[in-house]
Formats: sequence, structure tokens, C-alpha cells
Amino acid sequence: MIIGRYEIHSVATGLFRLDGGAMFGVVPKAMWERVSAPDEHNRIQLAMRPLIARDTRSGRVILVDTGGGDKWGPEEIERFAIETAPDQLGTALAGLGVRDQDVTDILITHLHFDHNGGLTRWADERRNVAVPRFPGAKVWIHRAHWQHTKAPLEKDRASFLKRDFMPIFEAGLLNVIEGNPPDSPFDEIRLYLAHGHTPAMSLPWFSHDGLELLYTSDLFPTYAHLPVPWVMAYDNRPLQTLQEKKEVLKACYDRGVLLATAHDPQIACARIADDGKRPVVQEAIPL
Ligand SMILES: [Zn+2]
Repeated sequence: MIIGRYEIHSVATGLFRLDGGAMFGVVPKAMWERVSAPDEHNRIQLAMRPLIARDTRSGRVILVDTGGGDKWGPEEIERFAIETAPDQLGTALAGLGVRDQDVTDILITHLHFDHNGGLTRWADERRNVAVPRFPGAKVWIHRAHWQHTKAPLEKDRASFLKRDFMPIFEAGLLNVIEGNPPDSPFDEIRLYLAHGHTPAMSLPWFSHDGLELLYTSDLFPTYAHLPVPWVMAYDNRPLQTLQEKKEVLKACYDRGVLLATAHDPQIACARIADDGKRPVVQEAIPL
């Protein structure tokens, strides 16, 4: 998809599963299992879909999140039913004509493992030292989120894996985004800060000539999460997530903003409509 100066694609980096009850919070299983069928361990299928945005004017190539990467051990692969090939991120980027050295910037929406695992890879087969996967790229994270990462709540501590992001910090690749509203480091990309899932989750909002696209990360992890009360139990501040979802849905209804989700197993991007009762996917958009 072309939006102004940006050529944008979804990047398929693999599949995993999380507990369906945790994914849908207070929604009864009798309701969510109709839209997202659980396996024998009550887990639902999720994708990991970063975005790649090529700035056709400046030449910058911006990766938005990285998927979970490939540093998983056997226990993690089993617990989360991870299906990903070695360096699937690199293979997917190559399929879109993007070489490793082309990636100039990586915007990390937040540092949970399913969004930033691809920032690093094991240095060698001993699998005990992680090194930056894209040593030539600047990695952008909002200051308030980085501060939270260093002292996470007990509630979301398990979602932060130091092997994914400490090598980035130690290599001097970390760049901090300031402010609320944030000072975007990218031309013609606004950053929308959402705080309900985790503090200062930074969502890129592309906009040009009436065409708008928001990458929703974990604000709307899948299109099954479009209804306002369908909020994950993982969220630190679920009431704030409700407000943020309402604000984004209003923009979808008023201006036709397209939503690109991080985890929907079927659809990468969609136009959203109000069917009179709830928000629904009006049209899947290729991305
Ligand atoms: Zn996620």
C-alpha cells in the first residue's frame, strides 16, 4: 500500500498461541470460542505481523516491531506453540526486496517478547549471547516505556525478556522518543501513544491525502478485539484501553482509518464499520 511518501507492507514472521481466556479478559469463553477456536490447551492461534515502511523520498526503511524472533528454547516453543523458521523475519523482508543493510530504523511499539524478539539473534550455536540482528539500524522506543521496562510491574514482568533488548542498549543503538504527544522521528508519521496495555505503547499513524492507516500493535491485537469491552487480561490498565479503543474507532468511523493488527491470524489490514451493534471488519485490505 502507498500512503504519501511511504510504501507499506505487512511482514509475516510466524505463528504462536496464547491462552484464549487471557486474550479476551472478561468475555465468557462461550462467546469468544465462536470467533477464535481454542486448541486442547485452551490456546488460540495468533500471528506476529510487523510492518515495513519504505520512505520513497528519503530512502529510510522503517521496520515497525520485529515479531518474536528465533531465539526460542524448546520449553518456550511448546508453551506458546511457536511456529517460525530460522530467521523468518529476514526471509520475509528479502521476499519484499528489503536487505538487512537497507533497514535504517526500527520503531518498537513496546518491548513485549512477541514484538521485539527479532531485534537480536544468538551470536553462535552455544545460544547464550544475543547480538543485534540489524546492527546498522537505529531502534526507537518511547522514554516512558523504556523506563517501565527497567522496572516492570509484577503483572507484566514475564513479557519482557532482556535477551531481546539489552544487547540493543549495550550496543548504543537505542534511541529514545520524547514527549506526549511524542516528537515523531519520522517524516509524516504521527505516533499515537496508548497506555492501557503497557505505558507509552507507540503506534505509527500514516496519513496522506485522506488515506490513513494505524498499526494497532496490542491495542487491537486481532479483529476479534474490535468490540470495546473485548480487552485482554494482560492489559495493565484495562479501563484506559477502553477509552483508547473508543477514540480510535471514532476515527475509523469518521475518516475511514484502516487498522493493521499485529496478531490477527487471517487478516493483516482492514477497513472498519459500525454494523449498528458493534465494530466489524467491512473489508480486508491487502498489505
Ligand atoms: Zn503482542
